[in-house]
Amino acid sequence: MAYQVLYRTYRPAKFSEVVGQEYIVKTLVNAIRNNKIAHAYLFAGPRGTGKTTIAKLFAKAINCQNFDGESCDECNNCKAYLEGNHPDIIELDAASNNGVDDVREIIEQVPYAPLIGKYKVYIIDEVHMLTQQAFNALLKTLEEPPAHVIFILATTDPQKIIPTVLSRCQRYNFSKITLYEIQKRMIEVLDRENIPYDEKAVSEVARMAEGGMRDALSILEQCLAYNPEKLSLEDVEHIFGLTSTEEEVDLYLKIHQNKVSEVIEKLRNMYAQGMDTKRLAVDMLEIVKDTLIYSDKAKEKLLNRITAAEAQEIINNISMDTLLKDADNLEKLISREKMNQSFLVYMELCLIKMAETSNTIRPITKEKEHKETKAESTVESVDDKEETVQSYIVEPETEFLLSILLDANKDLKIADQIIYNKLDLYRYEPEKRKFYQLLIGTELFASNKDAIIICGNKSQSDNINTKATNEELYKFINNEFGIDKMVYGIDNDKKRELIEQYKRTPAEMRNRPVYVEKYHFEETREKKPEDKLKDLFGDVVKVED
Ligand SMILES: [Zn+2]
Repeated sequence: MAYQVLYRTYRPAKFSEVVGQEYIVKTLVNAIRNNKIAHAYLFAGPRGTGKTTIAKLFAKAINCQNFDGESCDECNNCKAYLEGNHPDIIELDAASNNGVDDVREIIEQVPYAPLIGKYKVYIIDEVHMLTQQAFNALLKTLEEPPAHVIFILATTDPQKIIPTVLSRCQRYNFSKITLYEIQKRMIEVLDRENIPYDEKAVSEVARMAEGGMRDALSILEQCLAYNPEKLSLEDVEHIFGLTSTEEEVDLYLKIHQNKVSEVIEKLRNMYAQGMDTKRLAVDMLEIVKDTLIYSDKAKEKLLNRITAAEAQEIINNISMDTLLKDADNLEKLISREKMNQSFLVYMELCLIKMAETSNTIRPITKEKEHKETKAESTVESVDDKEETVQSYIVEPETEFLLSILLDANKDLKIADQIIYNKLDLYRYEPEKRKFYQLLIGTELFASNKDAIIICGNKSQSDNINTKATNEELYKFINNEFGIDKMVYGIDNDKKRELIEQYKRTPAEMRNRPVYVEKYHFEETREKKPEDKLKDLFGDVVKVED
């Protein structure tokens, strides 16, 4: 079965069929009803958002003899339009006819009255492509247009249009069509074509269209040309070389796990296989955006691209600061999309930059492994960077931590627990939210009078020990809770090790008096060592497992 061009087949024939742009359609319909038609319109907006479609519907409606919110499709004007030969509706694609001669040809006809309609309507598509000379020629006509002439200029690039032209046009800004509207329209088309579909495939195609209805339908058509029986997710991914969201999340995490070269290698493979690298950049930005939104409100329904579990995994491993900087870097990268030739290069640079950002803020997992391999292998420049950055982590020595532990006591721990009790308060405070991010999911392991030890996973503890963060955290705890103590981060391995060492320490060294209310003194003196451990560190047994 040969497919017709879906976009043409399903191009709206009525205002009521237009997807999106309700505001613009309403304004134009009202203008016709109230006989308040301007002589020049500028339709500006991204491709595939309905500029030309609405321009044509408008041209037809203006000339319809029985207009009543919609054109009648029965009068001479409507018929001529539907047959594609209305003599007074003239279209010019400035992308291919952009010279002064093309414009002059039009302008020479302007003074003559319309042949069958009320108005001569000139639709100039991609008007920003006109040469300067052509623009100037057009301008003269726009300055003093005859009453029977209407210009509709459409453009994806309004900033390229000279101000003197702009100022003579009534301007309408077309917005991207929402994902929901595109999906809805695609499903209508699929239903009318009697083609079964995977919902995920529909949303994948809609996403690729990036707010353009025309793109959505032509992508859909490509898929149906490949498999006319069904629109399946598998086929869509196959045809467009898309990566799954899981893979993308994994790639994103890897950037911040010292594996940026692995990511770049993967990227190059994808590129070699013809995959759209810009797509991947946009997807990554969406992943970051989703995570940022989720970290703030933790509402699953706000997520566009990733699952709550995926968002949580990213939050656990990547700091707020890093996410924000990534969003920045990715946005800049995507704005370079027009330089298609070198996009891959920019993308690689961007990934390296992102990896670098994470290093200065949040250090690296598997540090030891990394150092070992380093000694043997020749290092790339990227790895060099990471090596320098690691010096920012002030990893406390086990002996030092043990000395804090030997001096720690339960009551100080309870008192310092206020940090955790109040942590939720900072969740929505823009300035201090990063401390919420930093501490959430960690636990207060021990307190003495000069220091607190916080336990989390490896990346959390590294984060706490990173010099700049550590300093900020110290100030935060001091200012907010009046706790003037150094903060040290440990991970669970370290915690186990410390508890073991604590147990091995001679009893007299660790047998410091546990503070208890005096009337319970007798009782506590008889406490077993295990109970004391429990007092200090909570459920030790569980930790050892
Ligand atoms: Zn009509």
